[in-house]
Amino acid sequence: MKKIKKWLIIIIIVILIVLCFIIFNRKNNFSKAGYSEKEINKIVKMVSKDDYNYFYKKYDDSLIDLISSKDYKKNKFKEYIKYYEKNSNSKISDIVTIVNSGYDLMDYPASSLLASLVKEKYYINSNVARYLDYGNSNKISSKKIVSIVNADADLDFYSKTNEAKLSDNNLILVNKYNHLPDGYEPDDLVTLTSKYNSGRNSSMRKEAAEAFMKMVDGAMLDGITLKNASAYRSYSYQVNLYNSYVLRDGKEKADIYSARAGYSEHQTGLCTDINTIDDSFDGTDAAKWLKDNAYKYGFIIRFPKDKENVTGYKYESWHYRYVGEKAAKIIFDEDLTLEEYYAFYVLNKKTT
Ligand SMILES: [Zn+2]
Repeated sequence: MKKIKKWLIIIIIVILIVLCFIIFNRKNNFSKAGYSEKEINKIVKMVSKDDYNYFYKKYDDSLIDLISSKDYKKNKFKEYIKYYEKNSNSKISDIVTIVNSGYDLMDYPASSLLASLVKEKYYINSNVARYLDYGNSNKISSKKIVSIVNADADLDFYSKTNEAKLSDNNLILVNKYNHLPDGYEPDDLVTLTSKYNSGRNSSMRKEAAEAFMKMVDGAMLDGITLKNASAYRSYSYQVNLYNSYVLRDGKEKADIYSARAGYSEHQTGLCTDINTIDDSFDGTDAAKWLKDNAYKYGFIIRFPKDKENVTGYKYESWHYRYVGEKAAKIIFDEDLTLEEYYAFYVLNKKTT
């Protein structure tokens, strides 16, 4: 029994000596590299043992800044170093932010612009090269860069065009970059009666028409009269309309307020121009009511004020688009355009 006790004490003493040696040796390595006592204590606290080697090599005050950064995460140390080695002249806080984002950005130089972009709520990683291009040539906020690029509005009108996906149904995106398939005509158009309509283009897709009638009835209870003035417009109708504008104002001007055939949302049967189709509608009680209430019926203002550089269209107080109640509420609450919503919540497959 006594013998065992004796051996146990010897073993413990040996372990303690070895431990002391390791600690001494480590401290010695850190101090040999040039770190102060205070810095060594910080390194031991903030860095895993496996990563000490980076500090043994030579004194680097950036490494101290790195582990002192308020967003520093111990388990990402190797990633910071990998990125830092490629970007040793960049701000440490930018490096930490970019790595923390979790996106693979190793091939993009660290910059304050990139660091502020990755923090944007609607940031989409596949757009990063375009964000940087656009941001470097336009001195605007990261929020605006993300909005514009997500909407494709960094590209020239009609320069990159895709066929809109009919399977997106109520969320179908038709704009200067997305057109309807040739000869498209919705197969569930219904005609609004005179109670709901005052114009020539009086049909809408069934679900949108029903929601529109509900909205008109709802407005009526508040003493507001709403009537559709122009809803579904066929491809050939849009050809004539657009051409007449081009004749009058020239192509460049016409493109800002009128869509080319196939690129008009009116051909989807999901939108409606309400009451008067001009700026005199803005500021009316009906316009105000719609701004506050349309989303409850699944409609959104499609070309909002101050979003011209996102939608590519000037403000249209009268043009409302049906997207369904769920999307309309998000678009309303988050102050988005359909372009921004579509890029982030539909294409990027984000759900709330
Ligand atoms: Zn319209």
